[in-house]
Amino acid sequence: MILDGLDSSAMPAPHYDVCVVGAGAAGITLARKLATRSLSICVLEAGGRAFDQAQQDIYAGPYEGSFAAEEFEYLRTSRTRMLGGTTNYWTGYCAPLQESCFEPRPGIAPNGWPIRAADLAPYYPEAAEILQITPPVHDSDAGYSESRKPLLVHRPHLRTLNFHLSPPTRFGDVYGAELAAADNVHLLLNTTAAEVSMDGDRVTAIHTRDLAGNRRTIGADHFVLAAGGIENSRLLLLWNRAHGNRLGNRHDQVGRYFMDHASVHMAGSWFRELPHAALNAYLFQQFDEVRRHHTKAALTVSPEWIARRGLPNFLVHAGFMAPGPGPEARALISAARAIDEMRGATPAGSFPEYFQLITEPPLDADNRVTVIDEPDELGLPRTQVRFRLPPDYPDTCRRCMRALVEAVGAEGIGRGRVYVDPDMGRWPESGQFTHLQDHHNGGTRMSTGEKTGVVDANCRVHGTDNLHVASSSVFTTGGVPNPTFTIVALTLRLADHLVSA
Ligand SMILES: Cc1cc2nc3c(=O)[nH]c(=O)nc-3n(C[C@H](O)[C@H](O)[C@H](O)COP(=O)(O)OP(=O)(O)OC[C@H]3O[C@@H](n4cnc5c(N)ncnc54)[C@H](O)[C@@H]3O)c2cc1C
Repeated sequence: MILDGLDSSAMPAPHYDVCVVGAGAAGITLARKLATRSLSICVLEAGGRAFDQAQQDIYAGPYEGSFAAEEFEYLRTSRTRMLGGTTNYWTGYCAPLQESCFEPRPGIAPNGWPIRAADLAPYYPEAAEILQITPPVHDSDAGYSESRKPLLVHRPHLRTLNFHLSPPTRFGDVYGAELAAADNVHLLLNTTAAEVSMDGDRVTAIHTRDLAGNRRTIGADHFVLAAGGIENSRLLLLWNRAHGNRLGNRHDQVGRYFMDHASVHMAGSWFRELPHAALNAYLFQQFDEVRRHHTKAALTVSPEWIARRGLPNFLVHAGFMAPGPGPEARALISAARAIDEMRGATPAGSFPEYFQLITEPPLDADNRVTVIDEPDELGLPRTQVRFRLPPDYPDTCRRCMRALVEAVGAEGIGRGRVYVDPDMGRWPESGQFTHLQDHHNGGTRMSTGEKTGVVDANCRVHGTDNLHVASSSVFTTGGVPNPTFTIVALTLRLADHLVSA
C-alpha cells in the first residue's frame, strides 16, 4: 500500500517487523525481497512519485575539493530525492566489482573488505534479473558476433571489463506497483526519517518530518538505512550527535573515506596491428546476441600487472563522449585538438581516439561527509562533502595509462600512445579535464571492527543490535566498476541476513 505522508490522515501502523529508510535501488530491492517472506515492512521515502524541486533542494549543501563546485553543485545534482531515488536518472552500466577490489592490497587498501567477491557471487543472478539484464561476466567474448569480438580478452596482461547495460531500470516505475499491491508493505511517500529513539543498543523508533509539518513515529524490530551513499552518513552523524556516538561512531568513523570515481579525459592512439574492428566493442555499445541486452567493453590490465606496479585498479573507456557543457565538453574540445595534431604525428593506419580513464578512488579519511549548522527546509542540519584527489593523482593517471600501453606492447598486438594536450597537462588540479561520476561510495564502510569502519560484514552498524545499512556507503573500497550492481547484490545478501536474524 502507498500512503502520502503529506496527508495528515495517512496512518501507518505503530510497529513493523522492518522499517526501511529510502526507496531507491537499495530500499526497493530490500522491501520487495522481505515482502516475499511475509514480514510487515514500512518504507519511508523522502520524495514523492514525481520529481519536485522543493524536495530536491533539501539535498543542497556545500562541496569542498578538487572540482569546481559551482559548475555541478555536487550535492544537489548527483542524486535524486523521489520514489526510485537516483535510478530515475542513472545510465544503467552494470558490472560486478573485480575480485581484487575486495582483497587487502599494500599501499592501496591495507585491510580489504571483511567479505570476498565469492560471498556476493551467489546474489549476482538475482541482482541481474532485478536490473533487467542477464548475469554479467567480465573477460568474456560470449555474445559478441564473430566480426565484433573484442580481441583483447583472454590475454595474459590485458583484461576486458564488460559492462552490461540495464534498460536502465527506473526502480520506482518498474517496482512501485508491486509495492503498492503488497498488503504487508506500507510505502510512506514525502516522509523523511529525521531522528531515532534508542533503548540500550537497540533502535526502537524513527521519527519523521515532512514539508507539511506532520510528525510521525515508526516502531520496528529492525531498521535499515537505504537513503543513498551520502544521506546514510548524514543520518548516522545526526543520530550520533543525540546518542553519544553509539551508532558506529565511537572512533569517529561515520562519514569518513567518502569516495567517488573521478575520470580523466585524454587523447591517444593504437598503432598498426590492432585493426579498427578489434576496438569496436570498446568504442561502441554492442548488442549481446546471447544475453539480449547491450554491452560496452572497457580495457584494463591483469591484477598481476597492476600489483607489480603498485597501481590502483583502473579502466579505460575508448570513445566515450558526453555531450553538453562543462568539464567534459572542454576536455572533448581539447582531445579533438590533440587528435588533430596526432593525425600528422602518428603512423599511417593508426587510429586516434578519445579515452576516459577511471581509477579506483583513494582511501583518505579526510574525504568525508559532515553536517553543518545551516538547517535544510525540514530543520535538519545540511550535508557537506569534502572529496579531494591526492597530489600524486596526475602521476597515478599517467602510470595507469603507461601500464596499459606497455601491456598492449607486451602482448605483441600493437603499440599505443597517449597524448597529453598542453592544456590537459594541468589536469586534474585545474579540475578542467576531470569529472566525478556521482558514485557515492564509503562513509559507512564495512569493516571487521569499529576502529576502521561503521558496519560489520552483515551491514549491521557497529555498537547497535538492529540497525543495518544498505547502499554503496558500505563499500570498503570504491573499485572501478559502477556501483549499483554491487549495491543490489549486497542488499539481497542483507535481506537473507535479516530473515535469518
Ligand atoms: C547521472 C547519473 C548516472 C549514473 N549512472 C550509473 C550507472 O551507469 N551505473 C551505476 O551502477 N550507477 C550509476 N549511477 C549511480 C546510481 O544511480 C546509484 O548508485 C544508485 O541509484 C544508488 O542507489 P541507492 O538506493 O543507494 O540510493 P538512491 O537511488 O539515491 O536512493 C535513496 C533514496 O532514499 C531517499 N531518502 C534520502 N534521505 C531520506 C530520508 N532521510 N528519509 C527517507 N528517505 C530518504 C531518497 O529520496 C531516495 O529515493 C548514476 C548516478 C547518476 C546521478
